[in-house]
Amino acid sequence: MRVSVFGATGSIGESTFDLLRRRDDIRTVALTGGRNVTRLAEQARELRAELAVTAHDDCYPALKDALAGSGIEVAAGTEALIAAAERPADWVMSAIVGAAGLVPGFRALAQGATLALANKESLVTAGPLLMRETARHSARILPVDSEHSAVFQALVGEDIAAVERVIITASGGPFRGWSKDRLAKATLAQAQTHPNWAMGQRITIDSASMFNKALELIETREYFGLEPAQIEAVVHPQSIIHALVGFRDGALMAHMGAPDMRHAIGYALNWPERSELPVARLDLAQLGQLSFEAPDPDRFPALRLAREVMELRGHAGAAFNAAKEVALDQFIAGRIGFLDMAALVERTIDSLLSDSGLTSPVESLESVMAMDQMAREVAGRFAAAMA
Ligand code: NAD
Ligand code: MG
Repeated sequence: MRVSVFGATGSIGESTFDLLRRRDDIRTVALTGGRNVTRLAEQARELRAELAVTAHDDCYPALKDALAGSGIEVAAGTEALIAAAERPADWVMSAIVGAAGLVPGFRALAQGATLALANKESLVTAGPLLMRETARHSARILPVDSEHSAVFQALVGEDIAAVERVIITASGGPFRGWSKDRLAKATLAQAQTHPNWAMGQRITIDSASMFNKALELIETREYFGLEPAQIEAVVHPQSIIHALVGFRDGALMAHMGAPDMRHAIGYALNWPERSELPVARLDLAQLGQLSFEAPDPDRFPALRLAREVMELRGHAGAAFNAAKEVALDQFIAGRIGFLDMAALVERTIDSLLSDSGLTSPVESLESVMAMDQMAREVAGRFAAAMA
């Protein structure tokens, strides 16, 4: 099997690497990363990749040096990243963080690869387009988000028409139970400490604000084609059940597993079969109990905003994601407070409501990128006023 990994040096990328290095039936085509060229070169050597690409032009000399004498091709920059996605591969991991992951994923689908999709932003910003492209090229997307992989697995052998509802779980993050006053003063250090999952910095903070769950509600809608009213989120602090599918006879099928992304990545890698994975086995008696509580859209407005975006459809997902990325950058830079992130996203969506493009159907990548750009500009202006 020919495999490429986009975002190989990140959290999902490293977990993917860990599974790939244990296999002897894999031929690695391309690995891509950002500024961490030392690590990218190590991975490329170990997996004997054909090509290693850094997203940054100025990192080219360092990557070239690190791979000298290896026979591995080296490239840098956005165009090189896209060209890497066009190299024939059977299975492509999309694990770049943010809207930057969109185009490589599309190109991988266009050459007929199976896309293991961790980059949820692709579905949030361009869901209908992505699903159409997949069908047009007889390609396939396998979800690599723990909740969506769980739903996908619970649906094996089932008819989607028999599904009444889907419930995705949320750990509640480090701020579960915090009052609004406390949340307003939450620091970056507090926000980037997740109780259960080890993940990249951005998704970790998104988990604390529930923006991650907001993106995932939209992701569920786009991937499985459900109505917003059929999709629920429930807080489950132990992160053992990842999602549940409710059928019209009232039965609920839950997917359980240790909070380890190698579950979802490995399922996508071995699909449609199941193979041994190096993940912890659950000891239910030791776990003792699993608990659940309703999420609070008042303290975590991201969930309420996700509902609005799901109703608006069109380019609202692209605007939502872009505004969220700007808000996150501002929070990381210490320019706005924790609760300001949701306020900034809400103001951006509200102000774009008067733009007919917000709700027009998603028909091209160009219109998605135009909305992404416009929302970044609007959010940037509001952020400057807030800081
Ligand atoms: P990360 O920050 O750890 O890694 C991101 C990777 O993308 C790195 O290799 C980085 O070099 C690269 N990258 C960053 N910006 C880039 C750009 N502009 N152009 C090209 N490459 C760039 O992120 P992560 O936590 O591994 O998350 C990756 C994706 O997977 C995100 O979309 C996230 O929402 C999703 N996801 C992550 C987890 C998790 O457990 N970490 C779980 C579910 C879904
Ligand atoms: Mg998830």
